[in-house]
Amino acid sequence: MSKVIRIYNSSDLQSRTLDRIAVTVRNVFGIPVSISNVSLNLQDIYDSGREQYNSTALLAKILHTFDTKDNKSIVIVDEDLFIPVLTFVFGEAQLDGSAAVVSTHRLKNQYYGLQTNDQMMHERLEKEIVHELGHTFGLYHCRDYECVMKSSTYVEEIDLKKALPCKACRQFIVDYRNSHKSA
Ligand SMILES: [Zn+2]
Ligand SMILES: [Zn+2]
Repeated sequence: MSKVIRIYNSSDLQSRTLDRIAVTVRNVFGIPVSISNVSLNLQDIYDSGREQYNSTALLAKILHTFDTKDNKSIVIVDEDLFIPVLTFVFGEAQLDGSAAVVSTHRLKNQYYGLQTNDQMMHERLEKEIVHELGHTFGLYHCRDYECVMKSSTYVEEIDLKKALPCKACRQFIVDYRNSHKSA
């Protein structure tokens, strides 16, 4: 079972912001969280035609770059991510697995030609981090529009949901932790 959640920061975020997000993550999943700054070379997962980075290849990179045994690892990048069938993704995760990734790129107001709002970006990022980690704990998407596990295609949809799981999703996490305890 995961004894720790590892947040690997490969973005420009300040540690103050990361510390705050780590508190939320710890509260939601109930296991310790560690943060480290890393610099990942993403050249080999860059798609020059799309001018974006392949999110699934990034997941694979996480799995062979970091020790993901007995933990859940999430990498934060500033680069714009995609999977081949979609224009972009805010993040991606292995369902009931160990690796997840999230991008700040489309969480920033400036991406949409709006005024910079760091507070807003940090809230969105927190939700997306909890969301992607939720998938690594086996959670699927939730229909509750306030639940962090609700899927979001647009930032406006991220803004509508909370950083926390609904009651059912919270229970799912507890059950998941309990059933993986002995492993
Ligand atoms: Zn999702
Ligand atoms: Zn839910």
